[in-house]
Amino acid sequence: MITCREMVDLLSDYVDGHLEPTLARQLEAHLRGCTECTAFLRTFKETLALAKEAACEEMPEELKVRLRDFLRNNLQRGRSSPTT
Ligand SMILES: [Zn+2]
Repeated sequence: MITCREMVDLLSDYVDGHLEPTLARQLEAHLRGCTECTAFLRTFKETLALAKEAACEEMPEELKVRLRDFLRNNLQRGRSSPTT
């Protein structure tokens, strides 16, 4: 079973269709049971669509910031994070 953190790491490959089928299935299983990741996937895809409209090949800085915020806000509850 993959964790939310791993999910975030795999997400961009998953959206691009580059993820191994086995991992993709695990990711989908996680998404079914995790509303936070489901919501994040939606945001991720929307942001990606906007980036493509803007003809931007690289992941935009804003999306990286959103990923980081998502990790901070949703995935590190009750956990002491190392200083970044
Ligand atoms: Zn999750």
